[in-house]
Amino acid sequence: MLIVKKFGGTSVADKERIERVAGRCIEDYKNGNDVIVVLSAMGKYTDELIGMAKDINDKPPKRELDMLMTIGEQMSVSLMAMAMNKMGVPAVSLNAFQVSMHTTSAYGNARIKRIDTERIRRELDVRKIVIVTGFQGVNKYDDLTTLGRGGSDTTAVALAAAMHADACEIYTDVDGIYTADPRLVPTARKLKEITYDEMLDLATLGAGVLHNRSVELAKKYGVPLVVRSSMNDHEGTIVKEEVAVERMLISGVALDTDAVRIAVIGLRDVPGMAFKLFDILAKKNINVDVILQSIGRGGTKDISFTVNKNDMDEAVSAIEKNKTRLGYEELRKDDSIAKLSIVGAGLVSNPGCAARMFESLYNENVNINMISTSEVRVTVLINEKDGVRAMNAVHDAFNLDD
Ligand code: ADP
Ligand code: ASP
Ligand code: MG
Repeated sequence: MLIVKKFGGTSVADKERIERVAGRCIEDYKNGNDVIVVLSAMGKYTDELIGMAKDINDKPPKRELDMLMTIGEQMSVSLMAMAMNKMGVPAVSLNAFQVSMHTTSAYGNARIKRIDTERIRRELDVRKIVIVTGFQGVNKYDDLTTLGRGGSDTTAVALAAAMHADACEIYTDVDGIYTADPRLVPTARKLKEITYDEMLDLATLGAGVLHNRSVELAKKYGVPLVVRSSMNDHEGTIVKEEVAVERMLISGVALDTDAVRIAVIGLRDVPGMAFKLFDILAKKNINVDVILQSIGRGGTKDISFTVNKNDMDEAVSAIEKNKTRLGYEELRKDDSIAKLSIVGAGLVSNPGCAARMFESLYNENVNINMISTSEVRVTVLINEKDGVRAMNAVHDAFNLDD
């Protein structure tokens, strides 16, 4: 079998943990499998690197920030290779350049386009464990790029797809995928299985346990994923196309505290304004989520929407640059908001779900600023300070606990 095993930052945070991970990979190797290991940077090292960058320049050029951040993964893979070699097993670490992990050029948010598998195959053929840097790639200018925070999951799935791996295992610091972040919702329950679609929504809406693009890729290429703990042998959660278990109403609750709201007040109430506004943001590669447009009054209207807080400055300056073209009166930004969502395939056939969510928020006296729904999710915008309390209330209203 060819197995891809990915370990997150907490799982390789220090020498002891690196040795434990090395031991776990060697076990698979000694059982005759080919093993590819994908690693994140140790502990919170990526945050530390970003802190160092911002200390020198609060708006560091994205290219240089990627150049810096990619150090983190290069450090963990080389130390892992050293640990395995010490344990008597041949291992080789490879960075994105050495693999040839081609990405788009968008620094900080690059997408994997193609992976050359030749070098990895060659190393596996001589029975080495291959350890690859997560999170990074190389663009057409031969510059290093990164895939967005949490992107190592995506590296692992992309490698599993490119190498036609038999298994892709994501090891992390919780026992699997839960009905809500178990660190914030004590009654959250571990799921045995979840569909790609539901996990994709949860990940996109703030459940940071998997990078959303990793789920997108896993679905596209049919890569079966397992999410489990690197600290114990408990059974994890399987992410796949169809799940056999009886459908629950909703599969989970997600909270995203990285969202900020931008409101463009007093736009002219004529056709084409939404297009012009969102086209400006699309050209900057900025993802827009919950959108609300007010009813026109006195010839003007307001449009508000959410973006990730990392994109806020760029979004605001792009809109301000086009003030005359858009002809609005005022731009407001609010970073004290959070996005709370319920996700589940059961929502489509159960019209009472949204009401049940709103009722539980009402009972907690939580004010809703904006609402957005689709067939498989309901999202509300609330004050950040209410976030965790609201998440627990909604979770418990759907009886997702044991
Ligand atoms: P890693 O460094 O291993 O990639 P992450 O911090 O990126 O780890 O992801 C694991 C974390 O995701 C958990 O510690 C947990 O707090 C958080 N999380 C958020 N939502 C969920 C969920 N629905 N199920 C499990 N964990 C979740
Ligand atoms: N080290 C990167 C980050 O902290 C990538 C990852 O952990 O997946 O975002
Ligand atoms: Mg992660």
